[in-house]
Amino acid sequence: MRQRLLSIAFATLLCANLSGCFSQSGNEKSDIEKKTSTEQPDTSKYKIVPYFDPDSAYQFIAMQCAYGPRVPNLKQHDECGNALQKALEKYGLTTEKQEFKAKAFDGTTLNGTNIIGRFHAERTNRIVLFSHWDSRPFSDKEKDEANRKKPVMGANDGASGVGVLLELARQTQRVDPGIGVDIVFLDLEDYGAPEWANFDGNDDWCLGSQYWSLHHNYTSENRPRMGILLDMVGGENPTFMIDVVSSMFANSRAERFWKNAHEFGYRSTFVSGTGGEILDDHYYVNNIAQIPTFDIIDYRPGQGFPESWHTQHDDMAHISKKTLGIVGKVLTRFVYTSCGNN
Ligand SMILES: [Zn+2]
Repeated sequence: MRQRLLSIAFATLLCANLSGCFSQSGNEKSDIEKKTSTEQPDTSKYKIVPYFDPDSAYQFIAMQCAYGPRVPNLKQHDECGNALQKALEKYGLTTEKQEFKAKAFDGTTLNGTNIIGRFHAERTNRIVLFSHWDSRPFSDKEKDEANRKKPVMGANDGASGVGVLLELARQTQRVDPGIGVDIVFLDLEDYGAPEWANFDGNDDWCLGSQYWSLHHNYTSENRPRMGILLDMVGGENPTFMIDVVSSMFANSRAERFWKNAHEFGYRSTFVSGTGGEILDDHYYVNNIAQIPTFDIIDYRPGQGFPESWHTQHDDMAHISKKTLGIVGKVLTRFVYTSCGNN
């Protein structure tokens, strides 16, 4: 992903003005949640929220990094993709590989694979969760010029979101969230033109989400009511703010997510206010597939993405279990209690 000034006129605003009402709770091992507030509680509306294990999410990230950078057209990329599909199957999701070819900024034909897992594919009340699984082929933000042509490991930029979603998939097998959950690992997010290429075109980033958004097979019945994108959710001391695209297309849902985080006391991580103008996969999901989707991405207005972004330092040494725990806990609670309503 990258930061850019969005000059595109948005033709449609999909964000419905929906409000949620949710109880507070915060046990470590399991949370009992009440969906709606009524004077006489209906116990059928209590939901068990499973414990999101940050150690497990960390291991899923390490598993991906053990293949090396997952740069498109490399064997290690395809091998990691196979492992991700197997992991989703292991946790009971129906999987599909969406294979496609795309042209990179420099004319290279890239073999892309979006990996799709469906939890309870027959359910019509669904949400969809995204993360990209490819690694950037260049470390173009390196201070040292000699390192700029080396690929990024992408422990945070790519693998962290996938790791969190795999841990969530593991939990859905243990405790049924009661809704359909689609998990989509998008490919070719991070092959955008480096500065030295002097590329003056558009849409060179997020090739996997562009393809997915044009070729998803949802019907009007099973179309997800909303989407969440995770990108760089494992770094140290992150700042997550609602970015401009998220606020334009999925503001009420994003605000509800941030409210969930604040109820856990995570105000300094999920910061109030508008974040950056960020081009990420959710831009295409919102514009093409028109599924209201917000992004959870580490970006500090005025400072930018984390220091390790698109450098040789985006490795396991800079992955924080504390951050994984925070993101995973809020996400799990949100999926189990807040997504099925609107
Ligand atoms: Zn990136």
